[in-house]
Amino acid sequence: MSTAGLGSCIICEKPDSPRCARCKSAFYCSKACQLIDWPVHGLLCGPFATFNTANRPTKDHFRAIVFLPNKYKPKFRWIYCKWHELEYGYRYQCPEASTLVGEGCRVEQAILQSNPVSNRQLDDGITISFRDTFLVDGSARNKGVLSIITTQPGDYHDWRGPITAYGKVGPGSSQTHCRDLDMNDFHHIADFFLSYGSLPPGIMSSAQSVAATPELCGMAILAVLGIAVLLFCYGAIRAIFALFDL
Ligand SMILES: [Zn+2]
Ligand SMILES: [Zn+2]
Repeated sequence: MSTAGLGSCIICEKPDSPRCARCKSAFYCSKACQLIDWPVHGLLCGPFATFNTANRPTKDHFRAIVFLPNKYKPKFRWIYCKWHELEYGYRYQCPEASTLVGEGCRVEQAILQSNPVSNRQLDDGITISFRDTFLVDGSARNKGVLSIITTQPGDYHDWRGPITAYGKVGPGSSQTHCRDLDMNDFHHIADFFLSYGSLPPGIMSSAQSVAATPELCGMAILAVLGIAVLLFCYGAIRAIFALFDL
């Protein structure tokens, strides 16, 4: 991702678009496209503008985005990306699992190589890390993700526990170097949460319908019981008629 000049609008992909005047990061071709993105972009535009890149702890720390259960807004944070050595001299950089999702669990990762809504290919990869057991290990609902998915109507996945997104340089799945995330990346990450397992507004899956309206489930059971009683009665009457040869 270039750090200066013009770029492709993150909403409509129009080339040679200028950056947001405040964060000087996300590209928008027009006020109209900026307004479309603002409900999500506005969550981090100010914090990005004031995030001090001169305070990088080491050259192996990179700007990541964390989504925490107890914080309504996501946050930028430095994370340390450790170098790992494999055989044949192959090296790659990635943060420790505990840095990404806390202690005591395995980390699950979604690797974005394209925007999940527009299918636009990304120049650089984005990795979104979460606890692999977050639905069953008592993790609290992630309010950082909630701040994104409440910007649009719909039914969304129940994200829980701490979640961290960090960047890799270049496309593909074998990138070696980490990189700083910016506000263009934040747009793609938000689209991941807004599209993951989501349904159009007003349409609920059958499982959610039953959970939301247990009385409907009860009525269905009563209906089945009612039919069974009717069939039993019909059978009994037929048997009585047969007995007396009527
Ligand atoms: Zn545009
Ligand atoms: Zn901005």
